[in-house]
Amino acid sequence: MIDFEIPDEIRMVRDTVARFVEEQLIPLEQEVEFIEENIPADTWRGLRTQLRELGLLNLARPVSEGGAGFGQRDMAVVHEAQARSLFGGDLWRDSGVPEMLQRFPAAQLDKFAAKAERDELYSCFCLTDPTSGSDPSSMRTSFVRDGDRYILNGRKIFISGAHKADYAIVYAREAGTSGREGINTFLVDTAEPGFTAQVIPTMGRPSSVSSDACEVLLEDCMTPESCRLTDAGSGWGQAQNTLGGIRFAMGARSVALASRCLEMALDYSKQRSTFGELISNRQSVQNMLADSYTEINATRLLTYYGAWKQDQGRDARQEISMVKIMATEMLGKVADRAIQIHGGMGLTKALPLEHIYRNARVDRIVDGPNEVHRWVIARNLLRDGIPPVN
Ligand SMILES: Cc1cc2nc3c(=O)[nH]c(=O)nc-3n(C[C@H](O)[C@H](O)[C@H](O)COP(=O)(O)OP(=O)(O)OC[C@H]3O[C@@H](n4cnc5c(N)ncnc54)[C@H](O)[C@@H]3O)c2cc1C
Repeated sequence: MIDFEIPDEIRMVRDTVARFVEEQLIPLEQEVEFIEENIPADTWRGLRTQLRELGLLNLARPVSEGGAGFGQRDMAVVHEAQARSLFGGDLWRDSGVPEMLQRFPAAQLDKFAAKAERDELYSCFCLTDPTSGSDPSSMRTSFVRDGDRYILNGRKIFISGAHKADYAIVYAREAGTSGREGINTFLVDTAEPGFTAQVIPTMGRPSSVSSDACEVLLEDCMTPESCRLTDAGSGWGQAQNTLGGIRFAMGARSVALASRCLEMALDYSKQRSTFGELISNRQSVQNMLADSYTEINATRLLTYYGAWKQDQGRDARQEISMVKIMATEMLGKVADRAIQIHGGMGLTKALPLEHIYRNARVDRIVDGPNEVHRWVIARNLLRDGIPPVN
């Protein structure tokens, strides 16, 4: 039975986040984001402190690890409130997974624990090789075992935030293997001599100011035996699980930003007159508003449904791909219509619309190009047929 009822405690968290975003973050955007600068470090620290005091950080982390234990559906509700601000992704970033960091030897562990304590710990996710973006199973980055450590060699590309990261989650294959089987996951201290990262300037920015895409070189980069995160051959499945959750967050973020675009378009259409008539009275403008509202709501429902299904422990892989396609294309269309309704004003940097539009274009490629998700959906349909709705 599909359950869209949002529990009261989740509504309360969502409303608190929404207030924080409206009162603290949206006003800050005008000063900072539209001119593509970072939030000043002091302001950033102050905002993070407030979030911590309000109990609004690490909501998805298990209760046993100091989090709130929110499931995917509850997180989708909260993500929507966070992502209304262009700063949402950056401010709510997770400051490291304590259990994972325990794998580092004592000296590194102390360093990371101290940075986590100061809320200055950053990580990056290194899956994509230059030769294998859509198809990571053909990656070339490799590892060999050398006594009680592993040695990694290869090149990663478009790794968000690698230049700022303290540690990296790196996917590599056992030297001499091919396909999915030999892929494993490692934790790597980015201060190791064999790890270098350089920013690749790209259109727009992923979701946050600390997420510039980077090229990463691994040249005889060493990591201790304890930093191997997966058993032989399970790295592939682990990567797919990580990306699944990211796509529901992407669905919620797209809904949030598209809703903001639609609100702006509605307001503007009721103020702007041409040829002696408000543009909100024109059928072609009304069509753009109605289509946007319809698509936003459809995306929200699909996101909640897929996230809820995953929470039930059911196979939500088709929904994950459908959300990725629908959300990213919906946001592009809604932002495009909002710009059209604003005319020339929509293109200025005084409004967030052009920024949202540029970033929406990026989303159709990152986390798997939409064509690849369409291919996966069709392949499953052709093999298994259409499952019953339940
Ligand atoms: C800003 C940014 C941030 C990123 N951050 C990260 C990160 O933090 N970590 C990380 O590991 N990666 C990251 N990536 C990499 C991203 O996930 C890849 O770029 C993406 O998966 C596509 O790979 P590719 O660029 O190699 O495209 P390719 O795989 O070369 O594909 C090119 C095009 O071919 C078409 N195509 C490919 N395969 C198929 C198919 N089977 N059917 C139909 N059409 C197909 C699609 O149109 C696709 O866009 C990031 C990328 C960008 C741009």
